[in-house]
Amino acid sequence: MGKKHNSNRKNGTVQNSKIQNTKVQNVKVQDAKVQDANLHNDNVKSIVITVLAVLLLLVNIFTLVSVSSLKREVAGLHKASEQESLISTENTSGVNGEDKTEPSKQNASESVSSATQGSNADTSTQQTGEAVKKPGEGKTVYLTFDDGPSNNTRIVLDILDKYNVKATFFVVAALDDSYEDIYKEIVDRGHTIAIHSYCHDYNVVYSDLDSFAADVQSMRDYIYNLTGYTSNIYRFPGGSSSTLGNMDRSDCIRYLNAQGIVYFDWNVSSGDASFSFVPPSQIEANIFNDLGTYDESVVLMHDSSSKTSTMVALESVIKRMLDEGYTLKALDVNVKPVQQILSTNY
Ligand SMILES: [Zn+2]
Repeated sequence: MGKKHNSNRKNGTVQNSKIQNTKVQNVKVQDAKVQDANLHNDNVKSIVITVLAVLLLLVNIFTLVSVSSLKREVAGLHKASEQESLISTENTSGVNGEDKTEPSKQNASESVSSATQGSNADTSTQQTGEAVKKPGEGKTVYLTFDDGPSNNTRIVLDILDKYNVKATFFVVAALDDSYEDIYKEIVDRGHTIAIHSYCHDYNVVYSDLDSFAADVQSMRDYIYNLTGYTSNIYRFPGGSSSTLGNMDRSDCIRYLNAQGIVYFDWNVSSGDASFSFVPPSQIEANIFNDLGTYDESVVLMHDSSSKTSTMVALESVIKRMLDEGYTLKALDVNVKPVQQILSTNY
């Protein structure tokens, strides 16, 4: 009984130890599992890290590529804007095709060479300076004075003489004999005398064709009698497109065409007749606002005793025109006429 007990106890112990062994084994298995799990986790981690590293590398490469292409684009824009500014300088200053292309090519090659060879900066600037043209180079200005003669006509003539410049006077009949010498003086001093109107009264000049023709012919004869010169150049009082008076201008134009008289309007106005007084600085600004637009500018000014600010502006205007490279001339019948209504349509 006691042995049995003992053996039972022993058996119990053996069983216990077996159980413990099993537990140990279980623990080992669990450990192994934990190790496996750890290993698995480590693998996942390393894969994630690798993937992240690859992604980071790709992002870096992409950024590098983007930055370098951006740099190339910016450099391209700079180059383009440099070339554009060079071209636009040429466009504003150049006149005929040949003059435009030559300096433009020269400047483009200069900009490339100055970018690659910094040491040539001085020479390149000097060459670019030489290539830049004045705004009026190759362009002609026809100064025209309407409504004279007046107390100011001789002042105008003296200023024109001072700068050796010729102009055109669209004259009216004198109010009294004291002005009569001035017509011939205009011609003798080398300027063009042209027909404006005998009476300059819109209601008379534009009342009907007979009246219009009589006004033109009277003034043509008047000029001839005082100067010995037959003028074939005319300016409509108020301009060819004005609607002053009763007449349709098409009849007037047909009449002038039949007489071989060329009429000139203007494409640049000094604005000196806009108000009773226009400041000289405003007159100059009005002229230079439009002057660069045309190869041939016909500038409207007035020769009238009340237009003192025109006389004050004149010298400064002429000096500036000459400084900017414009050529100043008097009109003649061979100059392409500036017309608000084209005579060729009638
Ligand atoms: Zn007038």
